[in-house]
Amino acid sequence: MTVRTVAGRDVRLTSLDRVLFPEVGVTKGELLAYVDDHAELLLRDLRGRPVALKRFPSGLSGEGFFQKSRPEHAPDWLGAVDVPLRQGGVKTHAVVEDVADLLFLTNHGTIELHPWLSTAAALEEPDTVLFDLDPPEGSDVAEVRWATRAVRGLLEGELGIATRCKTSGSKGFHVSFPLTGPRTFEETGAFAGGVAAVLAARHPDRLTTETRTAARDGRVLIDVGRNAYGQTAVAPYSVRARPTAPVATPIAWDELSRVEPRRYTVTNLRRRLGQRDDPWRGDGVSAVDLADLAAPLEGLRREAGV
Ligand code: ATP
Ligand code: MN
Repeated sequence: MTVRTVAGRDVRLTSLDRVLFPEVGVTKGELLAYVDDHAELLLRDLRGRPVALKRFPSGLSGEGFFQKSRPEHAPDWLGAVDVPLRQGGVKTHAVVEDVADLLFLTNHGTIELHPWLSTAAALEEPDTVLFDLDPPEGSDVAEVRWATRAVRGLLEGELGIATRCKTSGSKGFHVSFPLTGPRTFEETGAFAGGVAAVLAARHPDRLTTETRTAARDGRVLIDVGRNAYGQTAVAPYSVRARPTAPVATPIAWDELSRVEPRRYTVTNLRRRLGQRDDPWRGDGVSAVDLADLAAPLEGLRREAGV
């Protein structure tokens, strides 16, 4: 056990030698060191947001579960927000503010961090639009790459929206862009749904918006379901609970053709960031006013007949 003191808060770090990823031998101590060393990059997209946790308290060889509620035995200083549930009632979620919070959650068995697309201060106001590209079962990465490029092509080439890309650290890629001004999930969901519908109509043999696995029929799913109240997407630089300890990694668009979704891991990410800066930093992607895009998107929908 060691104690890491951050801004007067003592975080107990325990069982440092426990192997969390047996296939590659990554221990809890190494995961904590990864989180500590990359806290700034993790916090950029986590700070101030409700966060859901994927926890594996005894590592990948044990039980894992997705947890939305704030851990019960968390220290008082861990942020909290009472989230009204659509079906009634409230649920207290954890809110991450600093490195102490990240270390507490990691020590508590969290491997994956999944923030909302809105902040605790404005739960109903998404500040990001996100497309989640999911490859069909057993397909080559080329297909999901093609689909990821197609999403970018429409957003950037036809609507003039600069976008960001990250690996999911699992099977696919995520494409996103930031928003200006207060927006509702109805608006972001309708916008993302419209874009996905246009693309699926143009390429019915390669792309689908059908979330049921049986109906996908070998096509890449453009999942826009993240653009809704209470939904999450894995945080940039979050580790994934998969055998090689991969990391959801921001990439530059010109890297898409060579980077695989699980290319970067807890073990090799340091080398990447030693060789190049975080590709999202200073990338010139600016926040977009969705209101300006309603008419152009409507035009594309009409042409595509959706
Ligand atoms: P992959 O590349 O394997 O698709 P992913 O992170 O995109 O990785 P998805 O299954 O496509 O995973 O889900 C997209 C997002 O939805 C996740 O990043 C996560 O934030 C959220 N999510 C996934 N599974 C659950 C779950 N069981 N409960 C709640 N949210 C989930
Ligand atoms: Mn996905």
